[in-house]
Order: sequence, then structure tokens, then C-alpha cells
Amino acid sequence: MNLYDLRQNQRISKTQAENKHTARTVQESQESIEELRQSVHKLSVVCQAMWQLLQATSGLSDQALLETLENVEQKQAAQNCAQCGRVQQSKKPNCLYCGATFPEQTSTMSCFQV
Ligand SMILES: [Zn+2]
Repeated sequence: MNLYDLRQNQRISKTQAENKHTARTVQESQESIEELRQSVHKLSVVCQAMWQLLQATSGLSDQALLETLENVEQKQAAQNCAQCGRVQQSKKPNCLYCGATFPEQTSTMSCFQV
């Protein structure tokens, strides 16, 4: 085995070790995502149960909840433009300063769908 082959074998071994490390990292990330997914699902179920209990005891309507959610969403609509970093206060689809297109926002209600 010449010096070139020896160096190539070292590189291959190093790359294989890096690949194993990357595979472990990916596996751990996938497990974390699944744990988060399950936590979100449980929280969603708890929210639905609490809402049903609240409705039964208070008589609040789904419309009242939707209006409250809309108000909260509007208050939280302020965001920074990813392109220029300026704060955006409106729900317009483009940045007022640089014209960047904002990603479409999903309604908060979508997180309650189990
Ligand atoms: Zn901008």
C-alpha cells in the first residue's frame, strides 16, 4: 500500500465516522420532532376539552372564540421582514419597505384540528 492509498483510506474512515455521527443526529432530530408532534397533539386535545367545558358552563359560542382568536392574531401580526428586517405591522402580503413577499400565514384555528 502506497502513501496515496493510506491517505485515501484515512479519508474514507473519517468520512464514514462523520456519516455515522450525522445519521445519529438525524435520528435524534426525528425523535425530537415526533415528541413535539405528540406534545402539540395532546395540548390540542386538552384545549378542545377545555373549550367544550367552558362552552357548557358559560354558554360562549364558537363565533365568540373565533372573534377573540382573530383579535389575538391581529395583535401578534407584527413581524419582522425576513429580507430587510423591518417590523411589519400590517397583514399585507408584501413588505412596505422592500416589497418582499411574506409567507402565507395559517390561522391559529388550524392548531386545534386533531
Ligand atoms: Zn422588507
